[in-house]
Amino acid sequence: MFRNFKVVSQVVFGRGCFNQLDDIISKKRDSDASAMIFLIDDVFEESDIKSRIKLLKNDEIVWVNVDDEPKTKYIDELTAEIKDHMNQKSAGLPKGIVGIGGGSALDLAKAVALMLTNPGGSADYQGWDLIKNPALYHVGVPTLSGTGAEVSRTTVLTGPEKKLGINSDYTVFDQIILDPELIKDVPKKQWFYTGMDCYIHCVESLTGTYLNTFSQSFGEKSLDLCREVFLEHPEDSDDKLMMASYFGGMSIAYSQVGICHALSYGLSYVFGIHHGVGNCIVFNYLDEYYAEGVSEFRKMMGKNSIELPSNICPDVTKKQIEIMTGVALGLEPLWENALGKNWKKIMTREKIESLYKKMLR
Ligand code: NAD
Ligand code: ZN
Repeated sequence: MFRNFKVVSQVVFGRGCFNQLDDIISKKRDSDASAMIFLIDDVFEESDIKSRIKLLKNDEIVWVNVDDEPKTKYIDELTAEIKDHMNQKSAGLPKGIVGIGGGSALDLAKAVALMLTNPGGSADYQGWDLIKNPALYHVGVPTLSGTGAEVSRTTVLTGPEKKLGINSDYTVFDQIILDPELIKDVPKKQWFYTGMDCYIHCVESLTGTYLNTFSQSFGEKSLDLCREVFLEHPEDSDDKLMMASYFGGMSIAYSQVGICHALSYGLSYVFGIHHGVGNCIVFNYLDEYYAEGVSEFRKMMGKNSIELPSNICPDVTKKQIEIMTGVALGLEPLWENALGKNWKKIMTREKIESLYKKMLR
């Protein structure tokens, strides 16, 4: 059976296109009373973003904090806060949610849009296709490029029991606004780590056993763009990285990621290490599986004078390694994509534990 792949319905791309936000969302309002909620990464609190958003009387800006990657508890709190705001205005549900920020803020916006129309808590929906009701209209405005969260059908959440996305067709944004001007001030390290998330998506997709022409077409273009951005630094790097992220996301959506992502999920679950940097730390130890990709990745690090964090946790305990290994091993499709149907014979628990020890000590 082939997957019937849900894509983002509307995309606007171009320098300055953020200025069209009001125009775009006003078509979803039926009166001045219909509300839009803007979830914006609080890194922008002192920027001019607020002044560029036209607020109507029931609208609200909610500054969101992404020091920690999104947790189910935070989603539930934000959802309750928005319901309270709407109750105070006696205005029912908002007409839409607009998420502005990196992968974390985009995921928060997707999850809140889902939870405003579905009962219970967000942890109940971590998994595949558990969502019952369509989300509120939701718009994503990336300010950091690489994760592909702008195109994916998941919102990655850490819950009380697991780090797992809410994967569903309803999760996908209705509209994305890709304005390369919004990523120009990203601090260099973050730019590199999140950009490498995209590069690694491409390597894992293109070398995987799930590869097909759909994924390959997007993956190859994305990889070329990453090479330009991180090795040649063309003038339009921001435009190119934004499109690389989109294409990389499209590539993995119809194939899968691989070993680096599986191990990085474990690191993030136990140590809270963020996705981009976690992937870089792991990928640097995967010569045996992605020789060419890892060697090019190191070239990119050199070109951009990036040094990875080291001595991450010299005192890591046996128990912590066991938990990380369990999280990583649980991601079966990722291993199967990377190593084929017999992956369990190749990637043993001992092998993963020894990789983690090398990375952490
Ligand atoms: P992020 O959103 O966690 O942000 C990293 C840092 O950059 C934060 O401090 C943020 O405030 C800051 N930042 C964002 N935009 C900025 C800008 N323009 N200028 C200055 N600072 C800025 O980073 P990310 O790498 O984009 O996203 C990682 C998150 O995405 C993780 O939570 C991960 O789980 C998730 N993710 C989701 C998907 C998906 O398909 N849904 C895929 C991969 C990763
Ligand atoms: Zn990723």
